Amino acid sequence: MFKSKRIMLKPKYIIAGNWKLNKGPAEAKAFCEALSKHLTSVSLQNIDVVVAPPFISIPGIEAKNFFLSAQDVYWEENGAFTGEVSASMLKEIGVKYCIVGHSERRQLFHETDRTVNLKVAALLKNNIKPIICVGERIEERKAGIMYNVVKFQLSAALFDIQIKNPDELVIAYEPVWAIGTGNVATPQQAEDMHEFIRRLLENHFGAGIGGKIKILYGGSVTPENIAGLIEKEQINGALIGGASLDLDKFISIIKYISEKEI
Ligand code: PEP
Repeated sequence: MFKSKRIMLKPKYIIAGNWKLNKGPAEAKAFCEALSKHLTSVSLQNIDVVVAPPFISIPGIEAKNFFLSAQDVYWEENGAFTGEVSASMLKEIGVKYCIVGHSERRQLFHETDRTVNLKVAALLKNNIKPIICVGERIEERKAGIMYNVVKFQLSAALFDIQIKNPDELVIAYEPVWAIGTGNVATPQQAEDMHEFIRRLLENHFGAGIGGKIKILYGGSVTPENIAGLIEKEQINGALIGGASLDLDKFISIIKYISEKEI
């Protein structure tokens, strides 16, 4: 009997490493050379690998088989803004993604929802994909207001922002209590928030675009817990801090996803 074949649209995952204040130019270059070499033997058909080194380490890296990200940006093009780096400067050195609104920047460097929004607009103008981080603190989860917090952060970040293609931006749900603590969210906790974010994106951009924007999970992802997270429908990849500093761990997470049956 004739059986119709279901054509599945294969999702492409994103695995992004946020190195924070780690790996200067020499170490970053050596790590990325080894990473590129390893990635030649990995099928990258269903996965984009992204690495976010400190600004100063980026120009020395040749991004083969992966993409470069920055960890932050300033929204003005140029001028009297001592210490800052603009989106056009990042573009000039081959940066394709940029993390925005990471909780460490919000907590330690006074990043606000308003500045996140300005940065998102500046990046999009320069064809750099913002990875917009949102996520609640532990007190907010305990008080049951995590959805309100994430809704506020996301709508502020996307204020006046429109895109033509879902690949132009990425969202990372990073519960602050899970970052660098070893307390990974359960796959269901993450999925529930990702579902919520998906609805917000569909409301903002319409189902065609909002339904396809990648939503990454971040917070204590390791080779041991990636399987449970990535099997959830709305988890389209991961933003990884600690485990991305260790080549074996980072490769093992990438390999697990690249070999995953979709
Ligand atoms: C991060 O800093 O974005 C992060 C998720 O860190 P870790 O994986 O170490 O929790």
